[in-house]
Amino acid sequence: MDRAHLYYGGQWMPPLGTGVITVENPTTEEVIARVPAGDASDVDAAVASARAAFPAWAGLAAAKRASYLEALHRELSARAEQIAHTIATELGTPLKIASRVQTQLPLKVLEGYAAMAAAPPEPEVVGNSLIVCEPIGVVGAITPWNYPLHQIMAKVAPALAAGCTVVLKPAELTPLVSYLLFDAVHAAGLPAGVLNLVTGEGAVVGAALAAHPEVDLVSFTGSTAVGAEVSRLASARIARVCLELGGKSANIILDDADLPRAVKTGVANAFLNSGQTCTAWTRMLVAASRYEETLALITEAVGGYQMGDPFDSATRIGPLVSAAQRERVKGYILRGINDGARVIAGGLDAKVPDSGYFVAPTVLADAEPDSVVAQEEIFGPVLVVMPFDTDAEAVEIANNSRYGLAGAVWSEDEERALSVAWQLRTGAVDINGAAFNPLAPFGGYKQSGNGRELGTHGLTEFFEVKAIQR
Ligand code: NAD
Repeated sequence: MDRAHLYYGGQWMPPLGTGVITVENPTTEEVIARVPAGDASDVDAAVASARAAFPAWAGLAAAKRASYLEALHRELSARAEQIAHTIATELGTPLKIASRVQTQLPLKVLEGYAAMAAAPPEPEVVGNSLIVCEPIGVVGAITPWNYPLHQIMAKVAPALAAGCTVVLKPAELTPLVSYLLFDAVHAAGLPAGVLNLVTGEGAVVGAALAAHPEVDLVSFTGSTAVGAEVSRLASARIARVCLELGGKSANIILDDADLPRAVKTGVANAFLNSGQTCTAWTRMLVAASRYEETLALITEAVGGYQMGDPFDSATRIGPLVSAAQRERVKGYILRGINDGARVIAGGLDAKVPDSGYFVAPTVLADAEPDSVVAQEEIFGPVLVVMPFDTDAEAVEIANNSRYGLAGAVWSEDEERALSVAWQLRTGAVDINGAAFNPLAPFGGYKQSGNGRELGTHGLTEFFEVKAIQR
């Protein structure tokens, strides 16, 4: 599984940097591959090839650009099984979810942007002005490990559809799936330099990309702390930055909710991908009149979460991505207990598989809204539960966060649920478990980021707007 090259100028290229990244299987704790850790000179070479490719790609007829994205979709679809296996292996996502969410969702996103590439926005006429959208230029894309292909696709597909060229720096914990993407890019025959890959450490390759004078837009998904650093690097040259950052989303269960459904869906959402999901509903806010009833349903639901090998079909929850992530999550559970929260499921003493970076799915009840576990993003299978008395108090607790990425409301009264949804300061709210819509804009308020991904809003991020007066 070792890969020895980077990809730019339409070719597999030997790295100029001499470093190596070792990739681990978090279930077996074995090293499964080595990939290059590039350096700033690799970034220079890849950005130069993206810059050289930009005018021709930007100038291509819409139908032709769309046909390249369609070819990429075909090549990637042909590798779907291999992609799901690779993500289950390098990240630990149970195979069923690795296939349905981690693989099929990015394919759907790519398909959607191929269609948008074929029908670019028409120029707008406002008085004597003709208003046109033009691709912004060279994009630096920096992505995390938790949905490794989806987060790449949410940047690369709209950027290419808009007419931009891209240099990608994927997360060092899960680089293997990006190699499968570039196998598909090569097979699809994308013009040289349109899409380029430099693997490496964040502080080296990521920072060089964010600071590069020839990168016009930095599209970053990751933690709020690194997002702030990326912004700082890009601001020195006034480069545009699109940030998708952390979250601490609230799931508000009002007193008239269908409780069994709200709890089942809420727990599943919190523990999806071992809780390593930026939009995870990690704070469950429950009407005080139904609090004890809800805790009993939660404990019952969590009992059904079997931990284990991602390739075992009975497994619902895999390991965390790394030993460091496991220790971080365990530290938060201890902190929650010390701060007075009550463990009603899982916890530090719960039995976990002998090998692998497992943490038992854990529920902390009675947490104080201002406590560390109710405020900080844990990024593991830890659900915090808190009671509220009125709808207004639920909104206040939900909005008491530096984040504002997602959220949920449950009520049998749709008007009431909508009223709460309107009051949440977040980029998305799901009412009564409504389905994820990959064409709806995705992004955060407050420290969850700026800009939007997915759908037409996600495409717009990659445009400059020009007004021509006649
Ligand atoms: P991270 O911030 O540590 O790393 C993200 C990427 O940034 C990686 O590719 C990393 O190598 C790179 N990086 C690290 N230091 C850098 C630097 N100094 N300059 C430039 N790049 C650098 O995040 P992570 O641990 O990979 O991912 C988890 C975080 O991502 C969580 O906070 C999660 O909420 C967030 N996330 C957000 C979204 C969203 O859409 N809002 C989606 C998924 C994950």
